[in-house]
Amino acid sequence: MGSIPVGVTTLKNMSNENTRHNESDADFENKIRPQGLDSFSGQDKIVDNLRVFIKAAKMRADTLDHVLFHGPPGLGKTTLAGIIANELGSNLKITSGPVLDKPGDLAGLLTNLSKGDVLFIDEIHRLSPVVEEYLYSAMEDFRIDIMLDKGPAARSIQIELNPFTLVGATTRSGLLTSPLRARFGIQCHLEYYDATILKGIIIRSAGILGISIKEDAAMEIALRSRGTPRIANSLLRRVRDFAMVKGGGIITIEITKYALQALNIDSSGLDEMDNKILRTIIEKFNGGPVGISTIATAVSEDSGTVEEVYEPFLIKEGFLKRTPRGREVTSLAYSHLGLSAPSCQEQTLFD
Ligand code: ADP
Repeated sequence: MGSIPVGVTTLKNMSNENTRHNESDADFENKIRPQGLDSFSGQDKIVDNLRVFIKAAKMRADTLDHVLFHGPPGLGKTTLAGIIANELGSNLKITSGPVLDKPGDLAGLLTNLSKGDVLFIDEIHRLSPVVEEYLYSAMEDFRIDIMLDKGPAARSIQIELNPFTLVGATTRSGLLTSPLRARFGIQCHLEYYDATILKGIIIRSAGILGISIKEDAAMEIALRSRGTPRIANSLLRRVRDFAMVKGGGIITIEITKYALQALNIDSSGLDEMDNKILRTIIEKFNGGPVGISTIATAVSEDSGTVEEVYEPFLIKEGFLKRTPRGREVTSLAYSHLGLSAPSCQEQTLFD
């Protein structure tokens, strides 16, 4: 068991590192990441509930119950973990499921937590089963059993932990085991953001970064951000580059449209891969139904990524649907790609 936690850093430390002049992705993230519930836009129900739970925990001078955030990438799970720690006035330790491959890694991390600390485990569905077993008693009784020695001399000792709050994040809640899921007292599903909220996030980020942007341009970026703040912020940065080089430095609607076209983001906010998926289902599989792994192979993408990143948005926007026999495009997908949909007889039994 190592005494130095593996893959751990703190958001507080990260935000103090903004001293370099070139703007790396981490610098950018730290500057614009909301630090409190008041600066976190959208997800109103989750924010309102968290406010109550955090306040109640503080009133009882107790630790906050363990929290699970699930939803597609880029919607604010890591940000909310940082906010919970800030609102509780606690330290945040960050790690992720794949990093903790031995029980010793987890034990090192847990024994270094102070009372009330927040431990954030990203991609918690990727914990190894043996590490997950350890986590059960840590979450429930704030205690872990550690095996010393091997063979006949093996014995276990019990270590008491300081009470802490575990915040888990997953893009694939279906892959979580039921015993792990049941140990989270607070479970929140993050939804895609609507364009008005994203517009506000873009204007806020632009303000922090000293970028001039017109309202209609912010709305245009918002509409093309797949309902995702991370994409909105990253498009803002790319459009700013175009505004600096091709325009007068101000992000106008004209320069935004020009930049988004150059970036291959169409008017419905679908990117190249979204369109490739729809076109492949139509052209190679007669519009479906077709299984997710077949689609993934056909577009040369990992099936987990297609399922976690692309599919939820295509379904939400009505381009794709799930049927018992696989994924099927809708008539909207045909019209979006300028193709004509097959007649009713050719549609599947499940329509
Ligand atoms: P996740 O952990 O779900 O993948 P993050 O928390 O890392 O997503 O968020 C991605 C980016 O989007 C970050 O730069 C963060 O600042 C920004 N962001 C996410 N949610 C919001 C929000 N509600 N308001 C403002 N910015 C947000």
